[in-house]
Amino acid sequence: MDIKIIPTGMIQTNCVILSNDQKQALIIDPGADADEIQAFILKKGLTVIGYPFTHGHYDHICAIGDIHAACPAPCWMHPLDLAWAFTSRNQNLPWYRQPDPATVPDIQKAWEKDGPFSIGPFEFETLFLPGHSPGSVAFYFPKEHLLIGGDVLFKGSVGRTDLPGGDTATLFRSLRRLAKLPPQTRVLSGHGPETTIGDELRSNPYMRQALGA
Ligand SMILES: [Zn+2]
Ligand SMILES: [Zn+2]
Repeated sequence: MDIKIIPTGMIQTNCVILSNDQKQALIIDPGADADEIQAFILKKGLTVIGYPFTHGHYDHICAIGDIHAACPAPCWMHPLDLAWAFTSRNQNLPWYRQPDPATVPDIQKAWEKDGPFSIGPFEFETLFLPGHSPGSVAFYFPKEHLLIGGDVLFKGSVGRTDLPGGDTATLFRSLRRLAKLPPQTRVLSGHGPETTIGDELRSNPYMRQALGA
């Protein structure tokens, strides 16, 4: 599985593109810069087969209308975030141009329960990790020791909990779940550089606080 990370938009949200030998691709969190994402897809000759979203914040969704028009495929988001991501200007950031929900015809609710999920040949587990947003999820690929974690855990930090629906105690519970993953698990976060669970267990002050260490 190939992994491409494209930092997009004003706050450099990491859009993650996974692809396989058959040139099928998943695009996770196309936050902005649809042209750049599409240029990569074209250059590599990839066929997009799905768009799983880690959560519904504007900086993770705003390119979906344009990229989906060019490369249509189903989209998935947890229902607790889908409830507002494309429709509530108060819950998401009101000054930001959100994609018109009509441009995202394939979006579906998913992952009410944690567990295995597959999109074509891509098989992963979803982990429900609320706290940063009410419907945050992470995508865990056990064979690859890979976690695509959205804004729950960052290298040396965690996602903010002061946005609508955020909650620090809930986020800390989610961190305790992540702490149980194998330490060698590679973590691709929604912003900033990648890390590992082991590194964060050792040095992330929020992780250590969540674990009472
Ligand atoms: Zn976020
Ligand atoms: Zn973000």
